[in-house]
Amino acid sequence: MKTIGLIGGMSWESSIEYYRIINESTRAKLGGLHSAKSIMVSVDFAEIEILQHQGKWSEAAQLLIAAAKNLEDGGADFVVLCTNTMHKLADEIQSGVNIPLLHIADATAQLVRNSGIQKIGLLGTRFTMEEEFYKGRLSGRYGLDVYIPVAQDREIVHHVIYDELVLGEIRQHSKEQYIGIIERMVSQGVEGVILGCTEIGLLIHQQDSQVPLFDTTRIHAIAAVEYALNE
Ligand code: GLU
Repeated sequence: MKTIGLIGGMSWESSIEYYRIINESTRAKLGGLHSAKSIMVSVDFAEIEILQHQGKWSEAAQLLIAAAKNLEDGGADFVVLCTNTMHKLADEIQSGVNIPLLHIADATAQLVRNSGIQKIGLLGTRFTMEEEFYKGRLSGRYGLDVYIPVAQDREIVHHVIYDELVLGEIRQHSKEQYIGIIERMVSQGVEGVILGCTEIGLLIHQQDSQVPLFDTTRIHAIAAVEYALNE
């Protein structure tokens, strides 16, 4: 079994989910008392959030490269960055260590492709929805047609993440807003929706949607277990 190296804290509300899913999945696969070998380096999200919103991405990269190096020095065999947004810095982080980084968009895109879905909606932070590092990977490497909500809806999705979900606040009104946004995307023709922020799965569940939802936290955590157990 390989040792999973997790960069957590972005936010810790979703890092907990990674830890839980990774261990549940390891037990489901191996049985008995088995659990995952893992190390987590958890950052202070307040520092990260300021750098994100000030556009100081190279400073954020230095923090995350240092976290990845800590994991490598501590004996991790690969890196799992427990956030979609910070995959904007995936190449920088990867070039800072000698162990592989398991990219969240790759694990997700493979599952979307396997489900036969072509037109996929994407919800996440403004960075994830609007910039190319994520959408471009889904379309460029996997040939998916990626749809994002209209500007007004993107604002809602972004603010619910930063003002509520990363603080552990789950509000019914926000859930209804997200359901409305998903329904508007479905009426535009999307056949499934990627929950492309690791906290959205705390708010929205499969029963809230008429189309398949792809929860990146769950997908990434299970991909980590499969990689760890694949000798
Ligand atoms: N966890 C979120 C994500 O998956 C947002 C927090 C962050 O900006 O890292 O994108």
